[in-house]
Amino acid sequence: MIPSNPENSLLVDRFGRQVTYVRLSVTDRCDLRCVYCMSEEMTFVPREQLLTLEEMARLGKTFVELGVHKIRITGGEPLVRRNILHLFRELGQLDGLHDLTLTTNGTQLARYAQELKDAGVTRINISLDTLKAERFQQLTRLGDINKVFAGIDAALAAGFQRIKLNAVILKHRNDDEVLDLVEFAHQRGMDITFIEEMPLGVIDSHDRAEAYYSSTEILHALQQHMALAEVADNTGGPSRYFGRAGSDYRVGFISPHSHNFCDTCNRVRVTAEGRLLLCLGQEHSVDLREVLRANPDDDVKVREALLQSMSIKPQGHEFDVNAAQPVIFRHMSATGG
Ligand code: SAM
Ligand code: SF4
Repeated sequence: MIPSNPENSLLVDRFGRQVTYVRLSVTDRCDLRCVYCMSEEMTFVPREQLLTLEEMARLGKTFVELGVHKIRITGGEPLVRRNILHLFRELGQLDGLHDLTLTTNGTQLARYAQELKDAGVTRINISLDTLKAERFQQLTRLGDINKVFAGIDAALAAGFQRIKLNAVILKHRNDDEVLDLVEFAHQRGMDITFIEEMPLGVIDSHDRAEAYYSSTEILHALQQHMALAEVADNTGGPSRYFGRAGSDYRVGFISPHSHNFCDTCNRVRVTAEGRLLLCLGQEHSVDLREVLRANPDDDVKVREALLQSMSIKPQGHEFDVNAAQPVIFRHMSATGG
């Protein structure tokens, strides 16, 4: 159904899809270098080009006034941005924002989990692709898995409900761990989602087409060990969820290659420099930093820019796992994963 928009106060695109969910990247930097996300040498955006935390809070408020009720803070690694709790506290006070969520690699959660909960964060996704310390180091180039384990424990202790693990599965690198990852998550009261690698940015560690491991293969592997039944998804997002017989916890799949999710897209992204991306897999964008800085005291202009952006939101992505070059040259860390 096409949402009605009598006062031009909602973000509705040309295809009748209402944007209610914003993924806000607060930095493109990270303390890890996951092989599918970044190349070994990365050039990061100079700090002065990033939106300030105040500008991000202003944007968040305007989005919420336009009907957005979920904001996910992402990056890069959000928890490496200095003073980031300030932003969570500002957003956490917004009436109308039902869900303030975070995607993190977990390395800093031991320090921040309780303060995030107190600031109003409702849910956390933690990325973890393996349970093996050595493999974790290879996949992230820099990481100490024990910090992530400590971060998961801290998030559980802080009382976060339905924490979700995110795992990107690559053929011959970690596809043998899908069952162990599910058991790890479910035994601790967490959901888990498996993500197919997306061709975002040039990377140097592997050939993405060769490493492609489909959600269907994972599902079949898991079904040898457990009964999984698809459940109706009400998030409007790209995930398909499966309930596990005898468990309250779920297995999800984000499958951009094998399962196109664009029809029900309800989201936009904002990069750390304030570029509004209308689609993960296309280049259509609006420079919100310019609008924010040209109108420091006038949120009406920001609101107009957001409403106008709906006329260029594309119908869908065009990912091609077999393309010699990525369709999109932005890395996931720059896009706001
Ligand atoms: N640093 C945080 C983290 O790792 O959770 C947040 C940002 S990260 C870019 C968000 C998610 O994107 C992670 O779950 C990561 O595994 C995933 N990701 C990164 N690059 C990807 C790619 N090329 N294809 C699919 N998922 C990717
Ligand atoms: Fe950092 Fe997250 Fe990208 Fe890994 S996936 S390099 S943790 S931003």
